[in-house]
Amino acid sequence: MPRRLTGFTPSGDLHLGNYIGAIAPIISQQATTDTVVFISDLHALTLDHVPAEVRRRTLEFATVLLAAGADPQVCLFLVQSHVPEHTELHYLLECATGYGEAHRMIQFKEKADRQQHVRMSLLTYPILMAADILLYDTDEVPVGEDQRQHVELARDVAQRFNANYGPTFTVPRAVNPPIAARIMDLTSPTDKMSKSAASAAGTLRLLDEPQVLRRKVMRAVTDGDNEVAFDPARKPGVSNLLSILAACTGGEPARLAGRFDRYGELKSATADAVVATLTPIRARYLELAADLQHVRTVLRAGADRAHELAGKKVEQAKAAIGLLPS
Ligand code: ATP
Ligand code: MG
Repeated sequence: MPRRLTGFTPSGDLHLGNYIGAIAPIISQQATTDTVVFISDLHALTLDHVPAEVRRRTLEFATVLLAAGADPQVCLFLVQSHVPEHTELHYLLECATGYGEAHRMIQFKEKADRQQHVRMSLLTYPILMAADILLYDTDEVPVGEDQRQHVELARDVAQRFNANYGPTFTVPRAVNPPIAARIMDLTSPTDKMSKSAASAAGTLRLLDEPQVLRRKVMRAVTDGDNEVAFDPARKPGVSNLLSILAACTGGEPARLAGRFDRYGELKSATADAVVATLTPIRARYLELAADLQHVRTVLRAGADRAHELAGKKVEQAKAAIGLLPS
């Protein structure tokens, strides 16, 4: 069984894109795939952040993932900072990564351009991500285009470490999430829906109230003519609504287009489908959030299990690279 790993950075609010592109696939595949799910709280520290917000969101993300159906009995489910081996391996991997290699990362350049004070951790973040991946002998990392280069870096580092110091790490590969999985912003449908979007109007948050979800869908930007057709290049707004409807109801976007004559009908059907998909998750979230003891217990158990696996991997890497066992 291949091992697959997905991380969620608590730097904004989880949204429908995260659900369709990452959370729903985890839940549908967790019985047949060896799954690692983690909240990458250390990654949230690489940009300007409010400490109390990161802490609050870490617990909220874990709760939402459990509410959506992530099963900690079958997945390895953890908070990154609860398992100190992530940062321990990070350092060892820094010693196997070139400065130029880290500096070439496109995301670093893009994010650094938007910051007044660029943190050192923004530069080394892909090496921490490599540690996240290599620590658990991950085979597959489902990622969008924006993260592909980072998984390539993890591959290169793993291969170099193995070649220089002896076989230590499984060499991971990036895999594509389901094709229909790229959900776009409702107000700016050529940009992907994202936690870091400037405005919340185009982002369907998983914990938005039903009437808020409905309003956002009804106000989504559509396209100039009045034809309901699936054509992402020519009609990005309408195609995005069709993709969302398809993802929430299990249909085919192009086929669904034939059912609607007007944008208004498509919007109401999409709003209904989004509300129907997210309402049970929100309800379960509110139940779990009422007494967070359960979530905390799950996280403690996850950290213990992860620590056991990761501890062995770090010992192996330390010995290989030349450190004296204590
Ligand atoms: P950020 O803007 O901070 O990068 P994000 O919304 O892209 O936030 P991530 O934490 O980077 O969220 O990604 C978590 C998971 O959700 C990843 O597996 C990513 O591929 C997936 N994902 C993110 N946005 C979308 C989207 N719009 N459609 C489909 N999948 C998405
Ligand atoms: Mg992202």
